[in-house]
Parts: sequence; C-alpha cells; structure tokens
Amino acid sequence: MLAVPADSVLAASSKTIPFHTFLWKIASRCNLNCSYCYVYNLADSEWRRQPPFMDLATARQAAVRMREHLVVHNKTSASIIFHGGEPLLAGRDGIEALLDTIGDAFRGSGIELSFGIQTNLLLFDVPIAELLRDRNVALGVSIDGPPAVNDALRVDRAGRGSSRELEEKLALLTSQRYRPIFSGFLSVIQPRSDAAAVIDYLASFRPPSMDFLLPLDNHDRLPPGMSAACGPSPYGRWLLRAFEHWLTLRPPIVVRTFNTIVALLCGAPSQVEHLGLTPVDLVVIETNGEIEGVDSLKGAFPGATQLGLNVFSHDFDQAAVHTEVLKRQHGRQDLCNTCRSCDVVEVCGAGYLPHRFSTARKFDNPSVYCADLYALIHRIREALIAELQSTSVQSAVRRVIGFSRQRIFNLGRHDRRPRTNRPACAEHPGRA
Ligand code: SF4
Repeated sequence: MLAVPADSVLAASSKTIPFHTFLWKIASRCNLNCSYCYVYNLADSEWRRQPPFMDLATARQAAVRMREHLVVHNKTSASIIFHGGEPLLAGRDGIEALLDTIGDAFRGSGIELSFGIQTNLLLFDVPIAELLRDRNVALGVSIDGPPAVNDALRVDRAGRGSSRELEEKLALLTSQRYRPIFSGFLSVIQPRSDAAAVIDYLASFRPPSMDFLLPLDNHDRLPPGMSAACGPSPYGRWLLRAFEHWLTLRPPIVVRTFNTIVALLCGAPSQVEHLGLTPVDLVVIETNGEIEGVDSLKGAFPGATQLGLNVFSHDFDQAAVHTEVLKRQHGRQDLCNTCRSCDVVEVCGAGYLPHRFSTARKFDNPSVYCADLYALIHRIREALIAELQSTSVQSAVRRVIGFSRQRIFNLGRHDRRPRTNRPACAEHPGRA
C-alpha cells in the first residue's frame, strides 16, 4: 500500500466539503477496447495491478467508511455509481451481493442512497434488468451515436464494432418494463460525425438525458483533429452545431452540458465536474479499495490518480482534505492566470481537470478546449438573452430562481457586448 506523503494531507476542519457521489470501480476489466479509453489506452496501465472485481470485504469496508463520513457530516443522502472497466462483468449475482453488502452497512443509518451504473450495456439481460428494476438502480449507457459513428472507436479486442448487439440491448432497456431504470446516454464526441444526426439517433430511443464528452486529451497530447492547444477546433464546431440542433428539438431533451451551462449562466450551481466553479464532491474507489480523486486523470500520466489512500487504512475525511482533492474546491483561486481573468470563468471553470494538463505546467493551464468552450458558452448566453427579451419569460424565471437578466449580461463584465475574443493566453503567449 502506498504511504501518504506527509505534506499532502491537511488536518480535517469544519470547512471540509463532504463527498456526495461515490464512484465504485466494481470491475477493472472491460469486454470492449474503445480506442480513446482512459483506463486501458492512454497514459496509465495501473489497471493491471487491480483485482478484476471488487470483493465483498472491500465493498463492506468502503460502505462502512462511507457511512462514517456521511454521518459525521450530517448528510442524509448520497449517490453510488457502479463503474469500471465494465461493471456488468460483475454479473447479476455479483451486483446483487454488492448491493446487499452496502445495504447491510447502511441499515438503520437513515441515509438515503441512490444507485446508478454506467455501462456499455452489452452484457445487459433480463436477470440483470429485473435486479436493477427491483433495486431501483439507474442505468446510463455509453454510446457514441449511430452504428457508423459508434463502431469507429467503440470496438472489441478484435477491432469489431458493437452496435448491432447494443441496439438489441437498447430494445430491451427501452421496453415498457425496464424504461424506468434508463437514465440516459453518454457519448464521446467524434468531430467528423454529423452532430445533428448523432442527436437524432440518440433521441430516437427517448432517453431521459444525453451528454457529449470531449476526449480526455491535453496540452501534451492534442485531441485528434486539433492543430493547436486552446485554439478553435472541430470539437467546438461540433458542439455549436449540436447546440443549434438542440434548440429545434420538440419536445425538448436534456443535454447535460447545455442544460448545465444555462443553469450556470442563471447563477445555479454546477451539477457536473467539468463545468463551473462549484466544489467537486465526487470520489472514486478502485476495486482494491484505493481512494482516488479523478479517475479520468489516468489519461494524463501514469499514476496521476493515486492519492496514497485506501479504505482499509484511511477514511473519506482524509481524502476530502487531500491537496489533490482540495484543488478542485477552491474555485477561481486555483486556476491559471488566463482563466482567472476570463469573462466566462464562472461558467467554464477552466473546463475538465484532465484537459488542463501539460508536463511543463501540470494543471496550471486553461482547458486544451479553451476556444471551443468559450465560443459555446457565449453562443448559449446569446441564445438565453434572446429568449429573455420577452418580459413575461423574464418575470417567470425571476420568480422561480430569483435570477435577473443583468446577471447574464454581467458575465461579459468588461464590456456588455458579447465578446468575440478570449483574453490573451498568458500560459501560451502568442495564442489568443
Ligand atoms: S480562459 Fe478558456 S478554459 Fe479558461 S475559463 Fe475562459 S474559456 Fe474556460
């Protein structure tokens, strides 16, 4: 077990921000081999030393630590997401045993737990569906779009696509009996795809929500198709096209990134870790019980996620005051100079932590997708202001969330006109 560096853990204090979302890696292997996967195909190969599955002793210990942490902080609810690798590799009985173990540990606590699974769905079947339905476990599906898009990068070890099987499983999941457990889609953006066609295909399954993720690349390893860090890229064009199409959808559909940007522009807190300045309250537990801050940092450099903590020898309060965790809770003060002076920083928050990495400056950079995020946020701001020209809409929104239109204008606080250029990039002189 790794020792905790003496200077990396601070004393717990009343200011500790407790965790709410606990991402449990219940399987460290996968039945797919997606080209962009941060677990297997980017910088880190730590998965090799992880047990393939979380055993029940580890699960029990993690659940006990969770309960202690939540009780100490007077929390009455929390969320557990089973993740991988591919969590359905644990099988119906394995998942049931984990749910029972967690249930035993929380019995009598009065803490309400909500459960979710993020899966590629290929192992989904009726016994698993019945279990998840009985236990009210929400199920999110990873899929990149229609078969031609999805099969480009979401492949098995022989390079074969997975869409035909996936569509069969989606038919089961979206059947009347199992639709209540369907929580939505997560898709990695493939910038050559047609954004509108991707949205229409996903929307045909009537998901409760969808979201589009930017590949987990950074300043050292530019995302495929991007020619310069922080510059306008095909990813921004894809997101803008997706947004314009989203505006036309009837009935409206939740696209988490767009909904979150609208909410942040209106002054609400962020519900996601890749936007805004809201302190992140998510923590990861590996199959061997190690506690991590951001599992997707595996894409940045080997060992990037390791905090030197494990549920067998540390509690979650120690994780909550670890310097690597606190870095995501100080808002603007821990961001680079460019982001601190940016007019949309309250909404963007410098983007997702893994996207900021470079060997030279570590995380003291804007997002590698800076120009794309900036353009998207300003476009959504424009659209929101246009909607709010109607006095009755303004008044209704103000009544519901105490918001004033001035606040949205103020995001471009240096001047009230929408800006077309970001601040000069202090971290990358010469780039706007
Ligand atoms: S400078 Fe770029 S990355 Fe930083 S907050 Fe502004 S848009 Fe986001």
